[in-house]
Amino acid sequence: MVDLLNLKIEQMAGLNFKCECGRTHKVDIEKIIVGNNILNAKNSFMDIINSENLFVVADKNTYKSFGKELITLLKRENYQITEFIFQNEDHLIPNEKSVGRLLIEIPKNASLIIGVGSGTINDLCRFLSYKLNIPYIIFATAPSMDGYASMVSPLIVEGFKRTYEATYAKAIVADTQVLRNAPLEMIHAGFGDILGKFTSLTDWKLSKLTNHEYYCEKTVEFVEKARDLCVKNAEKISQRSEEVIKQIMEALIISGIAIGFVGYSRPASGAEHHLAHYWEMDAISKNISHPLHGNSVGVGTVVVSMIYQLMKDKLPKGLTPPDPEYLISIHKKAASIYSPKELGIPKDVFQESIIHAREIRNRYTILQLAHELNLLEKISTILTEKFYG
Ligand SMILES: [Zn+2]
Ligand SMILES: [Zn+2]
Repeated sequence: MVDLLNLKIEQMAGLNFKCECGRTHKVDIEKIIVGNNILNAKNSFMDIINSENLFVVADKNTYKSFGKELITLLKRENYQITEFIFQNEDHLIPNEKSVGRLLIEIPKNASLIIGVGSGTINDLCRFLSYKLNIPYIIFATAPSMDGYASMVSPLIVEGFKRTYEATYAKAIVADTQVLRNAPLEMIHAGFGDILGKFTSLTDWKLSKLTNHEYYCEKTVEFVEKARDLCVKNAEKISQRSEEVIKQIMEALIISGIAIGFVGYSRPASGAEHHLAHYWEMDAISKNISHPLHGNSVGVGTVVVSMIYQLMKDKLPKGLTPPDPEYLISIHKKAASIYSPKELGIPKDVFQESIIHAREIRNRYTILQLAHELNLLEKISTILTEKFYG
């Protein structure tokens, strides 16, 4: 029996076991490293770069923070390298243009793609890897979202965000010294994505109790343990303590692994993600900027916990929803934003999102239960009043 809760992150690569829930859980990632100064310990990951012709992808910032050093090292090791550095002034967008650009730049003989970056670079490289059938390795530069160990790529096509099938990374490598120097907003985003597990796991249990949806206790404990380690050290986030940065990165990887365990994003994504997606899609449709995914999720978590509180008499027995005051206190410790108003979500968009976010995805959450009981209008008015006064 695998002692899942006591494995080190490195030991999770290649995991394959039969679980008490009846399913076999697997991790088709060959190597996971979260360490300090990894370029000085190159032997820990060099064996995974077992190809001749590398296509290295970064953007201006990630090239500076890690890519340049990595490429220098790889050149010294005599690899053939084609590098492509996105030169965007603003945020790089994972759209047709970026995918097309990579297709133009990748050499015909590339045998391994190496991404240096976080969310967008990872999504682009993973998609390219899947379509061209060339493995990819991600060198993470920020603990900002839980997509590192994911196997889908959300892309923006014709102005709409859609999730496309893709593949696992062959390896995930993260240097805590690089991660801790990422912009604080990105670290807060990663922490927000982790806080989202308070409500996503509650939504999952709600659906199990209401609809007998498949549920894996082991997977839930696995995610909760990683989440709670980060929460315990929330105060150390603004000081960029290496300890908590490592815990956030590991929890983000674990969240992705948990999705892989059950085959869909249920453990990691509930109503808080539906709200975050709604806000993001609204901003994309108006062509205005939006917060980072995880910052929205962190706020969505507080909002959803308040919905649970407003519906506490209507919940099935055996469900203990998270306490909004507790979640706000964690946000305060981490010095991260917890109010939708402060995050910059317009009042009308916020109110609409409470009513319509459940339509984004066919997944049972507290929003669906509220809809069935005809409570969404009322809840949206109460919460809009609460946050926007
Ligand atoms: Zn299981
Ligand atoms: Zn997320």
